[in-house]
Amino acid sequence: MASLSLKHIYKVYGGNVKAVNDFSMDIRDKEFIVFVGPSGCGKSTTLRMIAGLEEITAGELRIDDEIVNDYEPKDRNIAMVFQNYALYPHMSVYENMAFSLRILHMSEQEIHDKVLEAAEILGITEYLERKPKALSGGQRQRVALGRAIVRNPKVFLLDEPLSNLDAKLRAAMRAEITRLHNRLQTTFIYVTHDQVEAMTMGTRIVVMKGGYIQQVDTPQNLYRYPVNQFVAGFIGTPQMNFFDGVIRRVGAQVRFDFACGTGVDMERKQTAKIPVRYMDGTTPVVFGIRPDDIRLWDPSLGEDWQRARAVVGVVEALGGETLLYANFNTADENDRSGAVTVKAPGDCEIARGDTIEVAIHKPKIHVFDKATEMSIMMRIPPENMGYGTVQDGKLLFAGQSLTLPPYMAGKLHDGACEVTFPPEAVLPGTGDWQAAVDAVEHIDGKCLYHLSNGDVTFFALTEGEEAKWEVGTTVPVSLNLTQVGITGEAGEVIPLDTTSTLTGTYLKQKERDEAGKPIFRFYLEIGKQLLASPDPVSQRLFACKGTKIFRTPLSYRFDAGSVRVDTKADENRQQLIGQVDEIRDYGQVRYAFVRVDGTDGERVCVPMTSDLTIGQPVVLTPDLASVTVIDRALDIIIL
Ligand code: ADP
Repeated sequence: MASLSLKHIYKVYGGNVKAVNDFSMDIRDKEFIVFVGPSGCGKSTTLRMIAGLEEITAGELRIDDEIVNDYEPKDRNIAMVFQNYALYPHMSVYENMAFSLRILHMSEQEIHDKVLEAAEILGITEYLERKPKALSGGQRQRVALGRAIVRNPKVFLLDEPLSNLDAKLRAAMRAEITRLHNRLQTTFIYVTHDQVEAMTMGTRIVVMKGGYIQQVDTPQNLYRYPVNQFVAGFIGTPQMNFFDGVIRRVGAQVRFDFACGTGVDMERKQTAKIPVRYMDGTTPVVFGIRPDDIRLWDPSLGEDWQRARAVVGVVEALGGETLLYANFNTADENDRSGAVTVKAPGDCEIARGDTIEVAIHKPKIHVFDKATEMSIMMRIPPENMGYGTVQDGKLLFAGQSLTLPPYMAGKLHDGACEVTFPPEAVLPGTGDWQAAVDAVEHIDGKCLYHLSNGDVTFFALTEGEEAKWEVGTTVPVSLNLTQVGITGEAGEVIPLDTTSTLTGTYLKQKERDEAGKPIFRFYLEIGKQLLASPDPVSQRLFACKGTKIFRTPLSYRFDAGSVRVDTKADENRQQLIGQVDEIRDYGQVRYAFVRVDGTDGERVCVPMTSDLTIGQPVVLTPDLASVTVIDRALDIIIL
């Protein structure tokens, strides 16, 4: 039993091949985690780093709260099962399973009991005296599992364990491994390139591509809410259908216009999560519809279904169901932009060349940005977007008139604008702006409120599972103006970024302690100023980079909340000296930007607690316990 925490894990081969980038996730005790993705995406490398078979270039790996980056594989209490079984050919099944226990100098009786118990669990008792070559592939894989079980490890790592087996056996072993997980009640991490394996076995799945995590979620959520086109296409069989197109707003209606000529008419409410800038009829998007969400038209289907016509190309009768490979472009079957796979009942009598009427389930349509391939209908929309006007120092938006604070008023003039703000910036229960609660979604311990004022809809995200405001009621809301972005005729204000990045190095100095003995002290150097490195920071930097840390160009990142600003230096504290360069007055809160002495004009953002003036010298005290350290050459987070 074990929990694992992976924080900013990187693997860089040969100085510049980044096989794994910024892999961060927490794995709870007893989870069955599957890493899935195409060949070369970094799954095995990540697994091998957890096992200790591959050195971690940067990042922190914890098992049960203990940092294990430097532990030998044998000291991690982990067992790994490989694709090629890795059995000893000259040893019997019994000896293969007993081998690792003999190394631990366990008594013969204990070994015997453990091997027999594992053999029993896996149903291989009758083969114990055989050599591996006298076993089938499935039996060999059971022995490999048995060898892992006898060690009673905290974590099971399985690297494509079923890929050498034929399809039927693979399906049987899949179920067997799931049963084994239930029985052992241990944390499993399983690598596969097969999405069916991932979907059927994982309690949570990590989808990877090109060394980066794309999405981590339950099988059902990955299927229903893919964050990008890659995940959407990778998860689910037959594959999701994709159609190029544009979105057009026509009054209260929104039309999804497919390039192949067909289209879907949506209610504005159904598309509330799509930023309105995509509704101009020209921004290229990609629509995604799963074959499961298209069926043969039936007049009893309700308003949620859109009727469309398609011409059938290929018919695949699978018995229980029939897959129809059709084309929405009924005039030109060679126009692949209308290619669509439809799932029909097994007994349907449809033939090649038939024109069929299908129904598209509108609430299940996915929409992606054609350029970035990211979903523009995220479950939690990253930002709200609408159009407003700046007039006489006020922002007119969503039926309200908001007095702009000095910083924003100073940057804007009268004119039209696009307004963006994340759902976290909407503060329900405060302020005098009234919004109607149209819906509430409960997502991962948070509440997503669908709010509206007139024809402007927007979202608010609050912590806590329980909804404080009910659908149909009106709630007062205000905005955290630091997170609002405005662009357009009226000028430009970008949301406040409260993190600051300073370039620097890490160095050691030979000094003398109180007794006059020479010792080394370690420092974060920024603009020739030195901040004493706290022990935990030094230890973690050395653990990650060894003495290479002294030759590595670094960046130090601080959050505004972790930097104290004073007007007088304090002898006992380690501080950075600089001058106030800019003040941003947001009304309720003010922030100062301090230019740090000795740097190339680099600035730190700090919350202003006392009055400061531009040009005033100040001292900054960063809390180094929460500093983020970045290797600038490799562009990776070390800490
Ligand atoms: P997967 O398991 O997803 O198929 P891997 O983790 O095996 O992918 O590999 C990820 C990337 O790292 C690939 O581009 C691969 O070529 C590269 N890679 C793996 N091992 C090494 C190595 N020892 N030296 C250099 N590159 C490697």
